[in-house]
Amino acid sequence: KRVLLTGANGFIGSHILDQLLSHGFSVRAVVRSDSKAAQVKADFPNHGSKLDFGIVPDITSPGAFDEVVKSTPPFDIVLHSASPFLYRVISDNKEFLDPAIKGTLEVLKSVKKNAPSVKRIVITSSCAAVVNFSAPIDASPQKIYTEEDWNPTSWEGALTGTQNNAYQASKKFAEKSAWDFITNEKPNFNLVTLCPPMVYGPLRHTVKSVKELNQSNARIYGFVNSSKDADLPPNGMHVYTDVRDLALAHVKVATLPEASGQRFVICAEQISAQETADLLRQHIPELAERTPIGVPGGNKLPENAYNCSSEKAKKVLGLTFRSKEETFVELAKQLLEIEKKE
Ligand code: NDP
Repeated sequence: KRVLLTGANGFIGSHILDQLLSHGFSVRAVVRSDSKAAQVKADFPNHGSKLDFGIVPDITSPGAFDEVVKSTPPFDIVLHSASPFLYRVISDNKEFLDPAIKGTLEVLKSVKKNAPSVKRIVITSSCAAVVNFSAPIDASPQKIYTEEDWNPTSWEGALTGTQNNAYQASKKFAEKSAWDFITNEKPNFNLVTLCPPMVYGPLRHTVKSVKELNQSNARIYGFVNSSKDADLPPNGMHVYTDVRDLALAHVKVATLPEASGQRFVICAEQISAQETADLLRQHIPELAERTPIGVPGGNKLPENAYNCSSEKAKKVLGLTFRSKEETFVELAKQLLEIEKKE
């Protein structure tokens, strides 16, 4: 099968690319520039005709994907993972909203117009589109989020709220517009969306400096690059999934007939800041002076802290999840390596 993958040079995108190639798919990786394509090619050598590239400099421009969706042999599947998730300061919330929403719609429009062979589009959405961030994190009874839930943020709130809120809204409105497109346009393809919470794990793409880390892994670098007496970072969004499990979910839903028209929450489990620090300190002696001690075994999440349920993904996709050690310890060791090479 032939797949078009957007955001192929990103943290999650490069893991999806890795697993697509190892499952035998032929992939066109879409990135923003020739230099980014060259980097992906260097990270994935020796794939011959199984890997080619498409360049879309601005995913928000009308008809942005009209040419890259054309291919011989034609595409069967499109995976759309490109969307901004940055830690640099933005001056206008549209810096999140436009690429997320318009970028998604441009993919769908170009596929409908120029790629009639595509039967499925998979979108990397987020638990940011699912969770109500203005609710208390420890409501009673405990809130367990599922595929039925949507972040209630309004468009007005998206435009005027904080940068965090703008990101969360960008994922909600991008995913909503994709489902609306299916209802209104009745295209040649069906849709699947995946909603992971925080995504962590080892990097598959080249990152030359810890300053270039993507948003979620940069948070873990905060634990690596601190001091034993420092305060723990906040718990942040206390639910996560491993990038490799998420990438496999993308590959599974790309072809599974039962996934058609479905939304899946892809969440491993909860983790507190203290638990993260404890794990890193236990497994990496080098971090003894660098990772906050806090109160080992303490500082637990509130008893009723919300959770996100992956029961549907486990049942329909047969998905299993890696252990916390595999995710956080492998990532932290790799971050130390990157730091040494800088
Ligand atoms: P990265 O920043 O590593 O990757 C983002 C990808 O999207 C890159 O390929 C990037 O291209 C592309 N992109 C970003 N902004 C634009 C833009 N304005 N125009 C075109 N392309 C753009 O982040 P992740 O791998 O973490 O994120 C990938 C997807 O996963 C996103 O949809 C994100 O919302 C979602 N997600 C991530 C989570 C996480 O914790 N990491 C959690 C839940 C969902 P370039 O390199 O050119 O900027």
